[in-house]
Amino acid sequence: MKYCSTRGSNRNTRFVDGLLMGLAEDGGLLIPQQLPDVTQHLPAWRELSFVELAQAVIQLFVDDIDTNELDALIEEAYAGFDHADVAPLVELGNLHVLELFHGPTLAFKDVALQLLGRLFELALSRRGQRLNILGATSGDTGSAAIAGVRGQSNVNIFIMYPQGKVSRLQEMQMTTVPDSNVHCLSIAGSFDDCQSLMKSAFADLPLKQELQLGAVNSVNWARVLAQVVYYGYASLKFSQPVSFCVPTGNFGNIFAGYLARRIGFPIARLMVATNENDILARFFQSGEYARGDVHFTLSPAMDIQVASNFERYLYFHFDGDSQRLSEFMRTFQEQGRAALDGPPPSTDFSSTTVNTEQTLAAVQNTYTAHNYILDPHSAVGVAGGLRLHDAAEGPLICVATAHPAKFPDAIARALPGVHPTHPRLEALKDLPERKTELLADLEAIKGYLREAVA
Ligand SMILES: *Cc1c(COP(=O)(O)O)cnc(C)c1O
Repeated sequence: MKYCSTRGSNRNTRFVDGLLMGLAEDGGLLIPQQLPDVTQHLPAWRELSFVELAQAVIQLFVDDIDTNELDALIEEAYAGFDHADVAPLVELGNLHVLELFHGPTLAFKDVALQLLGRLFELALSRRGQRLNILGATSGDTGSAAIAGVRGQSNVNIFIMYPQGKVSRLQEMQMTTVPDSNVHCLSIAGSFDDCQSLMKSAFADLPLKQELQLGAVNSVNWARVLAQVVYYGYASLKFSQPVSFCVPTGNFGNIFAGYLARRIGFPIARLMVATNENDILARFFQSGEYARGDVHFTLSPAMDIQVASNFERYLYFHFDGDSQRLSEFMRTFQEQGRAALDGPPPSTDFSSTTVNTEQTLAAVQNTYTAHNYILDPHSAVGVAGGLRLHDAAEGPLICVATAHPAKFPDAIARALPGVHPTHPRLEALKDLPERKTELLADLEAIKGYLREAVA
């Protein structure tokens, strides 16, 4: 399997080289040069466990890691999940919830980042390199990235977060990790400050070189690939094609569902559910991709205006025409909006927007009817799925992206007196914390990085 950039450069990149690449030279995202067709394997794959299916699927996209070595990494990546099924399905009346929050940090990002950390280690040791990962987080991604690489000898990870502006639980999920390669930087500023510090650091090429800086952001191809597995796994538990509704921010999660369907898994409809940050819902209805203002909602991991993985979908929509894609992206970059001639086909995605009130109602209704607590992100998916799905279409699976105990304030608002807990979060409360407070100043960050790396 060879990869190229959505915008045409970097042809014939191999999987392991792509792992450490981030964006391609032309600003595009890596994508397979051709997709496999899994249809012939499906009868046999119905019998596989999650880990076995992950091994079978991922192997089709990787031809530069020994199969036994890759199988072992995949097995290790999911050994720490607290459910034997890794991604279990729970039936709630006329829908199924696909629980993706059984990893170490209780959010779906673990499914990809537990594997990515191990793949990084392999790629770095092969090349005799070290990597210093710099990231900015407003919540979930930082802890999942830390959990993916903690304890590794050839990686340091530095996560910046806005002081006092991530929840205490989310902060403790980062600061209580004892491994010395983990650095939590509490920045006196906003999340935007953290992000612009990160951008400035990466734009400083001598610094990037000197410190071997890298990122683990959602444009990484291996993250998408790892996520294809649970769509396939869930779809094979049914005898007819299933539809998925996915609470969506950066479009990484549901894009993996799109790929799963393109390679032949029996998937009917894919539904995008957004919160008030509805750029994607508007696009799938009108064909216009137009930046809006960021709204702060109960589902903060989806408070995103520009969805980085969206470009990968456009590449397929334009039948691999990198020229057209590059023009679309350039127009968007320059004018804050870009449009297709008409809306994209509704066979690609359906979409809907779920506001705060509807999110709270979904938490309440699901609890009343099934005694099941949805986190606010998953509630957006359930509300959207119930709105868009028609029972005649076959089974509906709503993707649950986080455990409700991670979002106690939103749950308290929807369900006063109900306090979901999780042993992994309770255990944090007695642990010592480590963090460094820094000013939102590039020189301060540089100084810290240099000293830590030396
Ligand atoms: C990251 C995240 C999302 C959004 O996923 P995308 O891949 O960005 O669309 C939804 N829910 C939770 C809990 C998340 O952490």
